[in-house]
Parts: sequence; C-alpha cells; structure tokens
Amino acid sequence: MQLLPHARKLAGGRLARRLFALFVLAALLPVAVSDWVSTRAVSDVAEALHQRSQDRSTRMVSRAVFDRLVTAHDLLLSMPASESLPQTAPGLGTVFRRISLHAADGSTRWTLATPAAAGQPEAQWDRPGERVPAGPAAVRLRADPRPAPQPRLVMQAYREGQLHWRAELEPLHVWGPITVDFPDARWRVRDARGRTLLAHDGAGEMLAGTAAATAWPDSGETDDRLRMARAQLPLAGLLGSGQWTFEKAAVREDVRWMGAPLAHWLGGLATLTVLAAALVAHWRIRQLFEPLEALAEGTRRLAAGDSQARVAVSGADEIGALAGSFNHMAGRIDHQLSALRAMAAIDHDILSGVALERIAEQVVRQLADWLPEADVLLSWCGGDDVLHSCGAAARPEASSAAGAGAAGLLRLSGVRMHQAQRCAFATLEQDSHLAAGTAPQQPWLPLAAADDGSYVSLLPLRAPGRTQALLALRWPQAPVEDRLRPARELRDRLAVALAARAREEELLHRALHDSLTGLANRDGLSRQLENWLQAPADASKNTDGMQASEPLLALLVVDLDHFKDINDSLGHAAGDQVLRICAERLLACAPPPAVVARLGGDEFVLLLPGAGADEALRLGARLLEQLKRPLRVGEHDCVLGASIGTALAPLHGRTPLELLRRADIALYAAKREGRACQSIFAEAMDQAAFQRLQLQGELRRAIEQQEFVLHYQPRVRADNGEVVSVEALVRWQHPQRGLLPPGAFIEQAEAGGLINALGTLVLDAACRQAAAWQQQGLGLHRVSVNVSPQQLQSGKLPEQVRRLLAHHGLPASALELEVTESLLVQDGDSARQQLATLREMGVCIALDDFGTGYSSMAMLRQLPIDVMKIDRAFVSDLDSDDGALAIARAIVSLASTLGLRVVAEGVETEGQAVQLRRLGCQELQGYLYSRPLPAAALQAHVLAAQSRSGSPVALAAD
Ligand code: C2E
Ligand code: CA
Ligand code: CA
Repeated sequence: MQLLPHARKLAGGRLARRLFALFVLAALLPVAVSDWVSTRAVSDVAEALHQRSQDRSTRMVSRAVFDRLVTAHDLLLSMPASESLPQTAPGLGTVFRRISLHAADGSTRWTLATPAAAGQPEAQWDRPGERVPAGPAAVRLRADPRPAPQPRLVMQAYREGQLHWRAELEPLHVWGPITVDFPDARWRVRDARGRTLLAHDGAGEMLAGTAAATAWPDSGETDDRLRMARAQLPLAGLLGSGQWTFEKAAVREDVRWMGAPLAHWLGGLATLTVLAAALVAHWRIRQLFEPLEALAEGTRRLAAGDSQARVAVSGADEIGALAGSFNHMAGRIDHQLSALRAMAAIDHDILSGVALERIAEQVVRQLADWLPEADVLLSWCGGDDVLHSCGAAARPEASSAAGAGAAGLLRLSGVRMHQAQRCAFATLEQDSHLAAGTAPQQPWLPLAAADDGSYVSLLPLRAPGRTQALLALRWPQAPVEDRLRPARELRDRLAVALAARAREEELLHRALHDSLTGLANRDGLSRQLENWLQAPADASKNTDGMQASEPLLALLVVDLDHFKDINDSLGHAAGDQVLRICAERLLACAPPPAVVARLGGDEFVLLLPGAGADEALRLGARLLEQLKRPLRVGEHDCVLGASIGTALAPLHGRTPLELLRRADIALYAAKREGRACQSIFAEAMDQAAFQRLQLQGELRRAIEQQEFVLHYQPRVRADNGEVVSVEALVRWQHPQRGLLPPGAFIEQAEAGGLINALGTLVLDAACRQAAAWQQQGLGLHRVSVNVSPQQLQSGKLPEQVRRLLAHHGLPASALELEVTESLLVQDGDSARQQLATLREMGVCIALDDFGTGYSSMAMLRQLPIDVMKIDRAFVSDLDSDDGALAIARAIVSLASTLGLRVVAEGVETEGQAVQLRRLGCQELQGYLYSRPLPAAALQAHVLAAQSRSGSPVALAAD
C-alpha cells in the first residue's frame, strides 16, 4: 500500500507532465520564431525608412547651406564699389559677421563688423598667394581652420581680377539649417581637405577644436547605436572651393506602437499565446488523465486482490470504452473468484469429511445463486437404498410442484428405491436432457419436465463405475450451453472430490484392516483400543470395584498351535484358508461390540470392552473349544488348537502397547504350560518374560558376533579307558557375565527361533576342530555334536551337514549327531527321514538322554540310530539305588537287542564305572575321566592319556 501514491505519480504525473511540456513547447516554438521574424522584418523596414529620411534630410540641409552660401555670394557680388554703400544693404549683418572693402593695392579701406565679431581677430584667408580669378566678377570661399571658437568661413569678391570685398560669414547664417532645424542631431561638416568646419553635438552646442574632432563617433561605434547619413556639396564651380561633406549621425530608434516598442508588443503577444496554449493543454490533459488514473487505480486494486474494484468513468470515447471493458473484466473476475471460493469451500468440506447432506446443501445453494432461473435438485442414493435429495426452486410454485413445499432450500428423503430403480440410478452415465412432457417414472426425478415447456438437464456424478449422485436442473426453456457450464464444473468437482474421498476411505480401510481375513490389523486394533481406553467406562459394567472412570477391557491374544506345520506341509494357500476359517470362528464367538483383529501370522487378538477376568476366561474357553474343532482344508482334515494369553485393562495396563505386551507374556506362559490352554497375565510372568526377551536380544547379537566357544568332553572305552571320541558342548563367552553354560541360553535360543543359527555355528566349529585334529593325527574316532529338534524342522539338516563335511574335508564317519527322543513326538516322520539320510551318508546318530522320554519300544525300533546314551540321572543313582541299576540293565539289554552301542554319561565315580562296565556299556563319559575342556586342553589331555597307556597315536579311522 505504501507504493500506491508513488505509483500514481509515475502513471499520471510524469506522463502528464511530459505531455504538458510537449504541448507548451509545440506552441512556444512557432510563436517564438514568428515573433523573431516579424520583429526583424519590421525593424529592418523601419530602419531602411529611417535611413532614407536621414539621407534626405542631410541632402536637404546641404542644399539649404548651399542656398545660404549662394545668398552670401550674390550679396557680396552685389556690393557696391564704395564704402558708403554697405549701410544701405539691409540684413547684411545677418549674413556676414565682418565685411571689409579692399583697395586696389590690397589695403583695407573700410570695415564693418557685428558686435559679436568685434572682439575677435579677423579671419585669415587661408591661401594668401592664391591666383586671382579672372573675369568681371567672382567670389571665392575659404575656411579659416583656426577655431575662434570654431573655424570661420571667409568669402572674397573679385572684380576685374582685383580683390574687392572680403567678408567673414555669420556662422548662424551658414549653419542655420543645421543648428536651427536639427538642433538635436549630431552633425559634422568637413571641407575637401578633411578639415572640420562644423561639429554639432545634438544638444544645441557647437563644438570646436579637439572637442569637435573627438565628439564625432568613430566608425566602430556608428553601426550599433547611430545611424549615419552623408551628403556631398560641390562648391568648386561657384565658389572656387572644394567639395564639402555633410555627415549626420542620428541615434537609432526602436519601432514603437502606442508608446511601447514593437518588440514588447510582439513578446507580450507571444507570451499570451503560449499561456493560452498551456492552459488549453492543461485542461485537456487533466480531462484525459483523470479517467486514466481512475483506471490505473482500479487495476491496482484488482491486482491487489480487490475484486470489487470498479471504475466510475462515463463517456463515449475510447477511455469510456476502456473503463467499460475494465468493469466488465473485474466483474467476471469477481464472479470467477467467488465461484472458486465457493468451490474451494466445497472441496474443503468434502476433504474434511463433512456429511454429504451439508455438502449437497452448499452445492445447491451455490447453483441457485448462479442460476437464478433454474430449479436445482441434487439426489443421491444412501447406503440404505433410500434416495436423499436437496434442492432449491426458482419459483415457489415450482417447488410445490416438485413436491417439496416451501420455497428456499428443500430436502427430500425417504424414497426407498427398489433394486431396478437403484440399478437405473447407478448406471446413469451421460448428461441427458428431457424436453417438455417427458417424465420417466423414476423416484429420483421429482424435477421431471412438465408440460409447461420446461426443460430438465440431468448431470450424473459418476464415481468409478457407477453414478453416485445426480444433479438435476429444470429450466423455463432449453438452456444455452453457457448456462450449463457452472453446473457441470461443480458437478465434475464434486464427482472428483467424492471419488477422492471414497478412495481415501478405502485406503484408510485398507490401512486398518487385514486383507486376508478382513479383520482389523495391528493399526486398526491400536486405534480401536485407544478409543476404548480413552472413553469413560460404563459404570454399570464395573463389577470389579475399579474406579468408575477407568474403562474396563479384556485383551485376548490367540496364537494357533502347529499352524506352521500346515503351512509347511500343505502350502501357503492352505495356510491362508486355515487363517480365514479361524477368523470366522473367532468372529462367531465374539459378542458385540467385541473387535477381532489379526496381528500377523497366526496371531489374533480379541478385544472385549467391559469385560473382567471371569468373562475373559469364559470367552477364552469358548474360543479354545471352537479352535480345537477339526477344520477341513481341501481334502485334509486338520486339528489345530490354540493358546491364549489375556491382559486386562486397567489392571495390567492403560495403553495398547502395555496391554498387548502383557497379553503376549501370558500367551508365552500358556505355551510353556503345554499348548491348548489359556492364562491371564500375572506380575511374576513379566519379570521372567522381560529377562527372556532381553536374553533373546543378547543372543541374537552374540550369534552375529560369534561369541560362542566349544568345549569338548572325552568319551572313553569301558574296557581299556582309551579316549575314542569327544562330545562338543557349547559355551557362551558373554562379554559381561563370563562363560555361560548351555543351560543358561539353549532354551531361549530355541524359544526365540535362534537355535538353527547357533546350531550351524556349533556344527561348523566342531567339524573344523575335528578336521584339524585328524590332520594332527590325534587318535579320535569322532566328534559328537548335540542337535536340537528345531534343527530338524526345516528338513535341511542332511544337506547342511553334507556341505560342512565337504567344506572342512571331514569324513562323515568322524561326526556323530546327538538327538533326543522329543524330536520324535512332533513331526516324527520328517525327522526320522532326515536321520536316515544322515546315517546313509555315514554320520553316526546317537539317542541322547535316553530314559527321560516316553519312547515306545516300537518307535525305538524304527529309529535310525547307532548309539544310545543312558541319561545321567540313572548313572548317578547306580551306587545307591537298586532301582536305578535295574533300569540301567534294562536299557543296556534293550540297546544290545536293537544292536546299538551303549554310552553312559555323567560317570563320576569308579563305582559307577565298574557297574556300567559290568552291565556291558561300551563307552563311558563323565567327570571321572574329564570335565568338558577347551580344544587345546582336550588335546593335551588326550595326548597325556595316550602316552600313559602307551598306545600309539593312531590316525583317526574306524
Ligand atoms: P547333554 O547333551 O546331556 O550334555 C552333557 C552334559 O552333562 C554337559 O553339560 C556336561 O558338562 C554334563 N556332564 C558330563 N559329565 C558329567 C558328570 O560326570 N557329572 C555331571 N553332573 N554332569 C556331567 P553341559 O555342557 O552343561 O550341557 C548341558 C546340555 O546342553 C547338554 O546336555 C545338551 O543337551 C545341551 N547342549 C550342550 N551343547 C549343545 C549344543 O551345541 N547344541 C545343543 N542343541 N544343545 C547343547
Ligand atoms: Ca549330549
Ligand atoms: Ca545327555
């Protein structure tokens, strides 16, 4: 805004000033030129005239002087020869100042002088010896240049060659035409020899001597200020004198009119002309620029976003037309802006999820505003198959015809559409128009064209694939295309926005739901859980004496048992089918408003608001029962079962994370208890679970960092004590807790799914060590490695063993794998198959911890094993317990029946060793012989034993 005055100056001021200057200049130039030209011309003419008059007056004056000289001449000639006569000549004194009669000898006979001349010396004849003129009478004129006070003129009359009369001319008589007639001009008269006879200063004064010489302006001066005129007066003939020159210097005079110089008149006139031109220019420029400035101001306001800006300029000229165009443009912009604003408001409402009813109202109101001549109706089909409409009537009677009643905004609702109608609505594809009289019987056409010549335009709003809503406009007559455009624009926008909203809802649904089962996913569950946890609880359901404000809620985590087996054996499609069936069963059990979610894999969650422990347990039992029911997958009948862990809010947690974690802990406890059961979270579980989780995390890192070492425990022959093999036992070199025994972490590695990785590390290290010992010639037949049941689950153990043996160049016979009976309980066939394969490769298989499991005789027979290891429990009691001895004996005889070698472990005393030897055990293992030792120590131990017994160091071979 600060810029505006400045901008105004730029637009109006500068341009206007420039134009004004141009106008004034355009007027000034010709006026000045014409002024100059006319001044020059007039003064030139005036000067020429003046010059001519000067010349003439100079000539006239010289003539007059001549006349006077002639008078003097004649007078002198007429003078008598006697001295008495002069008195008789009247006026002699006015012509001559002094007159004297000369005798024949040249002497003066008589003199007459005027009083003025009396005091002066007589003038001299300047050329005394001059030749006397012949003839009867002659007069000669000479000047006496000695000023007294100025040059005097002397005339001599001769008769018959004799000087007769000499007379000094009265200056007043001679110069009268100058001094009397032109007293205010400057004059100079010179004789033929250039002597100044008269100098007159123009102020009535005669000048003499040097004053006369200097008074006359020199030539440089004359041109500027003075006008010079000259006339020659030849006196040679009559007066015997040379030619006189008359010069007149007159001061130049301006041309004047009415007392003032003409130049002033012309200058004044020019100024007036320019002033008038400037006034007219100023008036015109103002007339031109005021509307222009108004236009510029309007444009600025428009540019600054004021769409209300209009210009009040009337007139039929171009500027008036421009203003008209500007106002029209501003009007259009205003209209478009308001349309855009309206559309933006509608967009905003749609995107911020405002109900369709309100958006429809807005659309209808906007259209009614833009199209005042039309009835507007927007209809859409709700999810309940009920047609909803919102409309505005141009005329009240039209609205009642449409069945709406009052004028203004009208809402219609409750027309239930049947299938065919809904279908017709949804498949309306293109804009269509109904002329008068056509009124198809559809409930969504309450605006049908009547017989009165009205006309209906139907604009469907198509979301992908189907019509979502219908915009109907009834016009008094067929509308021009231009009138339909805003409706179309609004319709398109609404359609796009509705589609965007639908897509967003779809995305949101997808984001919160599991695509396989349609149940809520983890995010959906969290959201719902958060909602419920924040909502104040229903006091009536508060049975456990909790604070009334705390919401009560049970969260059950359901984990399917053995689901992985189905996935592995029947494929993922079958697995998906199982998950869907289970989801349906869970949904069927869940009482409203319970929410069922799938967190991923085979883990489900059931959220039961308002439930305490009892209700949760009841529901859990129902779920377990349902999930235990056999389910048919393709051609197979499967039985799965599940485990359930439950956490209660607010007892076990107030946030979704807390509740989920604790339900998980409870689930873990249920699984540990043996599957197919449920448990509710208890604080004690949390500690153990926390440590377990922590340990699993540490284990994962330890596997990556390879923090494990193997110790080896020797197995000796029962008969001679020779070390024949060693059992590799893993230890964890924990960075803080030191060397940890397997009992501290194996179970967690199995629970955390880490045992495969750990087992691979152990197998690799054991094979490498065995190969090294073989190369060194340490006489060990084989190294025995413990294998967890989980390592057989992937079915890849034989392949892995084959690769490792090849990698380390170890013969299969140098490796023994120890397995437990437990692996035969689940998935027995696959495990058996893999053990058989390993055995075929030449790997020795030992059944570890025999006697602690529940293997049946029949099962044992099918087992592909070579060695049976009697569990430490039976060995340790051998000394004291007869029952133990009986069991040991039975085991040994069973083994020998099956053709297996028997190894006893945990032998700590010589007594035990004796007994076992007696029973027929082939190999013994226990602290009696050695504790598990690091590789180097074991090597030293073996070498020491061999040197004691004196047996040669044999190369490893069977
Ligand atoms: P196990 O396979 O029964 O291993 C023998 C266990 O008995 C070893 O304990 C050994 O130190 C101990 N032992 C040997 N002689 C005597 C004795 O005279 N008296 C007593 N009281 N104990 C004796 P350790 O090393 O703590 O291993 C415990 C269990 O950890 C092993 O039992 C085995 O089941 C498991 N294990 C060890 N290493 C591995 C492995 O690399 N992989 C797997 N999956 N399990 C392993
Ligand atoms: Ca073992
Ligand atoms: Ca064992």
